[in-house]
Amino acid sequence: MDGFNVPTGDMDLEKRFRSPILIVADELVSTMQSWPLKIVLGFATAFCLIVIFVGQIFDIGEKQQAKRQVVEQLHIDLDNGTDSLAASALNSNNATHLKTMLVWRSEKVKNGDNLSTLFERAGISTSQIYDLTASAGGDLLNNLSPGEQFHMGLDSNETLIELQYIKSPLVRYVYENDDGYFQVEKRTHTADVLYGYRRGVIKDSFYNSAKRAQLPDNIIMEMANLFGWDIDFVFDIRGGDEFSVMFEDRFLHGERLNAGDIIAASFKNQGKLYRAVRYEHRDGTTRYYSPDGLSMRKTFLRTPLDIFRISSGFNLRRKHPIHKKIKAHRGVDYAAPRGTPVKAVGKGKVVASSFSKPNGNFIFIQHGQTYMTKYLHLNERKVKVGQSVSQGKVIGTVGSTGYSTGPHLHYEFLVNGVHKNPRTVELPKANPIDDSERERFERVSKAYLLKLKLKGLASQNDDSIFD
Ligand SMILES: [Zn+2]
Repeated sequence: MDGFNVPTGDMDLEKRFRSPILIVADELVSTMQSWPLKIVLGFATAFCLIVIFVGQIFDIGEKQQAKRQVVEQLHIDLDNGTDSLAASALNSNNATHLKTMLVWRSEKVKNGDNLSTLFERAGISTSQIYDLTASAGGDLLNNLSPGEQFHMGLDSNETLIELQYIKSPLVRYVYENDDGYFQVEKRTHTADVLYGYRRGVIKDSFYNSAKRAQLPDNIIMEMANLFGWDIDFVFDIRGGDEFSVMFEDRFLHGERLNAGDIIAASFKNQGKLYRAVRYEHRDGTTRYYSPDGLSMRKTFLRTPLDIFRISSGFNLRRKHPIHKKIKAHRGVDYAAPRGTPVKAVGKGKVVASSFSKPNGNFIFIQHGQTYMTKYLHLNERKVKVGQSVSQGKVIGTVGSTGYSTGPHLHYEFLVNGVHKNPRTVELPKANPIDDSERERFERVSKAYLLKLKLKGLASQNDDSIFD
């Protein structure tokens, strides 16, 4: 606190903090009080004129400053996109004198673009495209993906001297014109990986709540996938449910790039706590396990719907009339927007893919000897009879075909030919981690789960989700 004490002493504080100009003005006013009115007015007019004149000079100065800023801004933007284009131009040893005079044009790859359309859009002659694609590494330029970026450096004759092909913030290819031949060089960066941490409480849908808690989109999707074997994200989510997640947050030069994999996560659903932690086996493969070493991946998903797609426009509180009929028949009805992807809940074989008047477009999948799942009223069917499907494979989309009052998925779960409630049916137990990995897993997972807990404690003084 000592640093904040102002030494007072004999100093007149008011004077200390008054600007010298104010003090001079004070003196001036007291002097002028003794002058005739005409002289005072004359002085005042002259003063005003001076103020206006000086003001204009400053104004011009500011406009020039603004112009300069715009130019600098453009320059900086280019630099950001290319990660110091200027620096890389200076670094390359040949034709440095030419490069410093290059004019740069930038284009972003859109759907359906190829090198010609990009060049045309940038107003660059396409005559050099052959030289580019014929160079070693030129074949890379035949397969462009939307979102990728190009920077073209031209000399005063509009000849392409350097082409920067930015595949991602971490990978770029630089094509340099060496007397009509292009030399390519791959330049890469390595991202810094930090631990990202988020937590939230569900108010409406998981998707919206996770958005509010600033979970990156891919982490929301991974969370729904990770807990989707245990929790039905359409029916089981309640207001007050809590979640927390620790993930790889990737940075380049201090700027956030994207989120990588989930490292550990917890989800408290209707009072029941689920936790998952990533574990890398000795052979390098990674899998998610519960703290007691059971695989998160199970034989069946809890819901056949793509939760990520559905929940962005789905409100928990809004009860769809179709929900009321759940008990009336042998399946579960999921109200969902038309076109929502429908997934196979487990690995299996398609035993029916057809149309009937009551069911509309329907698909049946047999899973081993014991289980069968049925999907009705589909808008589209994407699999054929006899086809093998993996878990999570999109087999069709939600529709309203057959006897249906609105877009929804009617879903049935049969065990040995008997209908069971898909929401409560006892599902096969998850596989435990291999004995040879158990001890190491315990050590690693404990450390990660502790970190998840500590991050939660640090971000908010409340450990209620870990009771
Ligand atoms: Zn139904």
